[in-house]
Order: sequence, then structure tokens, then C-alpha cells
Amino acid sequence: MQQEPPRISLVSPEAPIATPTHGGRAKCLQRLVRLELPVPRTVALSFACVRDVAHGRPPDTAQILAAFPEDALLCVRPSSEDPDWGGPGAILNIGMNAARRAALAETLGQEAATRLYLRFVQAYALHVARLDPDVFEAFEDDGPEALQQALDAYEDEAEEPFPQDRAVQLAAVLRSMARAWDGTSARLLRQARGAPADAGLGLVVQEMAFGLGQGECGSGVLQLVSSETGVPRITGRYLRQSQGREALDHADAALFLERDMRGPSLEERAPEAFAELVGYARLMREKLREEMQVEFTLEDGRLYILDGVRVSRTPRAALRIAVALAEDGIIPREEALMRIEPGALSELLHRQVAPGTRRNRLARGVAASPGAASGRVVFSAEAAQAAAARGEAAVLVRRETSPSDIRGMHAAVAVLTERGGMTSHAAVIGRGLGLPCVVGASELRFHTRKKTLVAPDGRTLREGDIITVDGTTGDVLAGAPAMVEAALDDAFQTFLAWADELRDIGVRANADTPADAQTARNFEAQGIGLCRTEHMFFEADRLTPMREMIFADTPEDRRAALERLLPMQRSDFIELFRIMQGQPVCIRLFDPPLHEFLPTDRAGMRELADALDLPLSDVTRRVEALGEYNPMLGMRGVRLGIAVPEIYDMQARAIFEATVEASREGAPVVPEIMIPLVSARREVELVKTRIDAVAAAVMTEKNARLDYRLGVMVETPRACLRADEIAQHAAFLSFGTNDLTQMTYGLSRDDAGRFMSAYVTQGVFAEDPFHVLDTDGVGELLQIAAERGRAGRPDIVLSICGEHGGNAESIAFCRQAGFDYVSCSPFRVPVARLAAAQLAI
Ligand code: PEP
Ligand code: MG
Repeated sequence: MQQEPPRISLVSPEAPIATPTHGGRAKCLQRLVRLELPVPRTVALSFACVRDVAHGRPPDTAQILAAFPEDALLCVRPSSEDPDWGGPGAILNIGMNAARRAALAETLGQEAATRLYLRFVQAYALHVARLDPDVFEAFEDDGPEALQQALDAYEDEAEEPFPQDRAVQLAAVLRSMARAWDGTSARLLRQARGAPADAGLGLVVQEMAFGLGQGECGSGVLQLVSSETGVPRITGRYLRQSQGREALDHADAALFLERDMRGPSLEERAPEAFAELVGYARLMREKLREEMQVEFTLEDGRLYILDGVRVSRTPRAALRIAVALAEDGIIPREEALMRIEPGALSELLHRQVAPGTRRNRLARGVAASPGAASGRVVFSAEAAQAAAARGEAAVLVRRETSPSDIRGMHAAVAVLTERGGMTSHAAVIGRGLGLPCVVGASELRFHTRKKTLVAPDGRTLREGDIITVDGTTGDVLAGAPAMVEAALDDAFQTFLAWADELRDIGVRANADTPADAQTARNFEAQGIGLCRTEHMFFEADRLTPMREMIFADTPEDRRAALERLLPMQRSDFIELFRIMQGQPVCIRLFDPPLHEFLPTDRAGMRELADALDLPLSDVTRRVEALGEYNPMLGMRGVRLGIAVPEIYDMQARAIFEATVEASREGAPVVPEIMIPLVSARREVELVKTRIDAVAAAVMTEKNARLDYRLGVMVETPRACLRADEIAQHAAFLSFGTNDLTQMTYGLSRDDAGRFMSAYVTQGVFAEDPFHVLDTDGVGELLQIAAERGRAGRPDIVLSICGEHGGNAESIAFCRQAGFDYVSCSPFRVPVARLAAAQLAI
């Protein structure tokens, strides 16, 4: 049987004190004692001891007090396993009574002695005896009259005189702190911060260093780096004639440490103590392997170190701190990489609402694409473009977005939609563009015709009003709060370079446009894993030939329209190949249903009738004829490729001609061509035959050789099950887990947002399966497909290109299944690089 740790231990270098039995603070203090820092005498009470006290067993005060001089004043502070779980506030100056006041008046002076006693009576009354705060917080000064009033009030309220015996005081303090930890609200609070239900509390009893009295006296905190940026800079607070954490709460501007413009500082008043303090902070950094905030007290010029706590930090500071610790040889690189949660990186890639800024929240939706941006509300893509042309920032507000909003999205600084979830159109495009996006904000009432947006509290926003979309938190805020800029600095680059050295799964980006491709390169993606070509057809100059192609009556007419699109597609690909400099580029052939390119309202139809020189009735009839009951399961993807093969022919030609041209000027290009929405081998055979023919034709015409790789996008359950035969015609399989999730669950990716939160809160789904891969169901299909795919073709390359590719848990699954790479939105690439490295460590 394991021996129970000592319940009460003097904190000494040898004492058996550990974090899981005595808490983090006790353990840290022991480390400071081992470093021979001037820590006042300290006794640690174990979790078991405190638990018994909470349950009514009196603490062994005699044993505790035996460790301290008879006249020492004491303080008690909480020591939970993780400091972030909180705990009851510290109680200082235990042992103060009338006699000690008289004695201390001799050494510290009358004023300091009175103040110490008053503080203790107040703290004891409020936190131990739990008397009325209105009575004990109301004293105007720290003088003898206030003390007498406090003692009288105590006697009145508690119906007994203020206890004078140090042991009695200590026992009561310990009991009240132990019970406070056991209270329901404290428990709920710490559970919300990740503490287990049975988290224990230790307590540390420490001899007081006064911080009050003769000579240079005071207390404060010091750290070596900025909590905001992590940049080395001595910061902190110091308040003369103060105790505990008073310096932190004090609004006095003269609280500072280093010499600067504001007048005498601690460094000037007590240069030796200051130098000693900075030296201790450096020693703690090195030996505790962490940036620490040092809590100190000066008593008549003599320095005491009371405690050290991990410096609080923003994600950007956390990264810089981790890199600096590794560069200084204090921690290994692997540990630096493990110290940053991958998701936190995405905060560095975008502007954010400045921490600590008051948030004037209108509503909350799904945080679909991180970063924050402020702009004027506009209700149409056209208005967003017009605003951009005027140089104004616009937030595009739509019920949901469709491909026809793309140009408006490009022009906007952020997007807000009423409907949709993590894989809705707005979310996917927003992440691709690095555009802050909140979707599914159904708390707001969207009156897009009346051009108003009504918040749950009744506030009404009109076109032109300024709002902020915070895609990191899902908040929609009124007005424009202060922001902090993205932080792609040296520390960031160094950190990710270390990640790349360690990871063993590739990371590519989903990139549709040259701008996306450039972002992908900037974030050092190893190629493009998915280029959704249809986005290239929404440009203004392409929409008309595209629509002509859709309306063509004969293959010849269709080919003529496609002829006009060909050079545009070719130049798109040349540019992508050029930007990617010989890295792999995987191009997906046309995927969406054709009607997405057609207008939905009368005005649009009329415009189209004009452009195509057709009667309006003709246009309306044809648009209607192209409508489908269930377009996501209708004529799209490879089905379109087989029914209207000229589209794929044109795309293949554009790819091959671009390949020849780009290879002439730069690194040789081996394009990857991917067929979407496959469910049967024969589909692949048919498309492959035609593409091979186009490749042969281009080689002859251009008198050039070219290589390409044809692959299949696995997005239907049947393609997973038949991966063996499909793989025989495919050099690679890339799992489109957005559609695969949709089809496996029979759950519309565009409509799931409406009930997803109800499903997650009631535990039907642990997570939104469009966000975190459902490893049980969809994952099983992936595994089956990977296994069968390899059986069909042992050297098959496997990857994932759905939105899950940028999610750490999903990457873990892909790595386990032996995938070669993941492909994700360009702005998720750094997150994926780190997540992949952590899996390999
Ligand atoms: C997918 O379905 O996972 C995918 C990547 O394709 P899209 O999102 O374009 O349907
Ligand atoms: Mg898909």
C-alpha cells in the first residue's frame, strides 16, 4: 500500500511535498527553498489534511505553530493542483492582537502596527467569521479609531470579542478556507476551468514579511517578460508600505520597478534589492523552466520572496516565451512545441479584439472563421463591392451565402450569416480567404429586404451601422473595439520550422485562387491538396460564357462557349503553378450543380435574357428545368463530367496547356487531377479515357512531354466500400470528408447548423461532425477505404481534404490510418503543422 504523504510538513528541500498531494503552490515554494531563495518559513498542509478540516476535524495547530517563532505573524494561502483552478483568497497577519500591536508599535511604528491589526480584523470578519461586509469595508482611514470601531463591530456582530489567541485564529482561518473550497459555487467555478469533481486543496502557512514599517518597505510582483507579447521586459508593480497583492489592486500610477520617466522607482530606492530580485527571477526562469511572476516583499530594505506563479500570457506571448526558453537551452524544442495548443496559433494569424476590451455583444453564432474585423453593415454582395470601391470596410450580412456572393465576400472585411454551420458555404470560403466569419447567428433577426438586423435585446442595426464580427469567439459586437494585429514574427517562423523537423505527415492547403495559393506558400504548405475550380467561374467576365455553356443546345454550341473559358482557366492554372514553384497542385474538376451559376430572381433572369439574346420566358423555363429537388445528391461532380463531358475536356486541356507553359519557364509541373463525387469504378474509367486523350492531344500539338496523376475524391460511402477497384484507376485517393460526413449521416451540411447546438448540448453528438471528424462512423469508412485502396494499389497516396484536415483530433486519426498528408484551409496550415508535430513527439 502506498504511504500517505505527511499531512503537515515544513517546506524544506527534503520534505516529501508533491503537486498531486499538496498542490502547485506548495511544490513551487519548495523549489524556491531548494534554490536558496529568501523564502519566509512555510508549512504545507496536504489535500487529505485540508479535506478533514473541511469535514470538521480540527487542524493540528500546535504542530503547525511549532514550526514558527512564538510571535510570528502568519498568512495562509491556497495551493490547488493547478493554479488556474483558483481557491479561496489568502488571509494575512494571523496572530495580530492587542499585545502584538503594542509590541510592533515599538519596532514598526504605531501607524504600521495599527494598520496591520485593522487589516487582519477586517479580513477575519469578512472571510472567516463571514460578518456583514457593509460594516467592515466602510472605514475611512487606517487609524486607531477605525481599529476600535472594527473591534467593537466585531464584538457586536459575532457576539464575542475578537479572538486574541493565534492558535484559535489560525484554526478558524484554516477551517473557513477548507470549507470555501468545498462550497458549491467554488466547485462549479473550478470545474468550468477544467478541474475534476474531486480536485483537492492544499494550504500553505507562511511567516509574514511585513512590507510596512521603517526603512524601505513594500511589496509587489515582478516578471521578466510582457504578458501581452512575451517580449523580454521587466514589468510589475511595487507599492511602498503595502502587503500581499495590494500593489496589484492599487490604482496609483507610481507603482513601478525600473528607472524611467515617472520619478523614483524601486530600482533607484533600493538598487541592491532590485538587482537581487531580478537575479532571483532569472534563476527561477532557468530552474523552474518557465517564465514566473515573482511575488516579493521588502522589509526595511531586506528582500523576501513569497511566491512564484506562472506568468499569465496571451497566445502570442506563450509562443514567444516557449521559443525563448528553448533557444536559451532551458527546455528542449520538443517541449516548447508541446507547450502551445495548436488551436491557439490561429489567433496569431489574424487580427483579434484586444484582450481586456469591453465587448458590447449583440449576439453570438458559430465561430466559423477566426479573426475579428469591424465595418459597416451591408446586406448584399453588390453593396460590399461598392463599399470596397469607396475604400470603406464592409461586413457582409446575409441569411446564407451562395457562390454568387463570392465577389462580395472578397470585398468585405467579414461575413455574418443567419444560417449554416462549420461547412456552410460562408464558413468554407471565409476560412479559405482568412475572412472573419460568424455563421448560424440565428439569435439575430435578419430582415435583409428591410435592411435591418435586430438583436435579441431589441437593438436595431441598419445598413451603414458599424459592427464587429469576431470569428474567433462567434461574437457579433456593436461598434469597433480596439484590435491587436496578427503576429507572424520571427518567433512564429522559428517555432513552425521546429515543428516541420519533427512531423511525419504532410500538410497541404486547400487553395482556389492565386491569393489563396500565396497564403499557402507563406504558411509553408507543401503544395495544394484541393483546388476547387468552380470558384474560378464566378468572376464577372466568366459568368456569361459559363451561362451560355449551360444553356447551349448542342455539343458544338457548348464547345464554343467553353472555348471562351479555356484561356481564362489556363491562365488561372499557370498562375497557380507559378506561385507553387513546382510543388504539387491537386486540381479538382468541376463539382457543383450547374444551376448555382444561374440567377434566382427576376431581375437576374432579365439580365441573363439580355446577355444571351433570348426571350425572358425561355430563360425562366430553362432555369426552372435545371432545378433539382435535392441538388447535393443530383447532377454534380463526376455525374456532370459524364453527362456533359465537354466541361472536363476543357478543364483538362487548360491544365495540360498550363503545365507545358509553366514547366517551360520554371520548375517542372506534374499536375494532379481529381475527380469529385465518385461512387463507381466505371465513372473513373470513362473520365480517365477522355483525359488521357486530351493529354495525348496537347502533347502532340505542343510537341512536349507531360506527366500527370489522376486521382479520385472519395466522398460517397460507396466509393469507400469499393475503394479496391476504384484505386486500380487512381494514383491517389483524397477523402472529401465534408460530403462524406453529409452522406454518411444523411445530414445536410448546409442545414445542420439549425439544430447542431441542440444535438451537441444534449449529447447526441459529442462534437459537430462537420468540424471534428466522426472517427467512429465516418472514420470507419475511411479506414475501410484506406485498407481496400491499398489492396487495390499498394502505392496509392492517401489524404484528406475536407475541413477536418485542419483539426488536430482529425489529423491524429489520419496519421494513425497512415495517410500521406492532410490538406486544409491556408489559414489552418500552421495549426496543422504544429498538431502534426505534437503527434510525432
Ligand atoms: C468535401 O466534400 O469534403 C470537399 C472537400 O469538397 P467540397 O467541400 O467542395 O464539397
Ligand atoms: Mg465535396
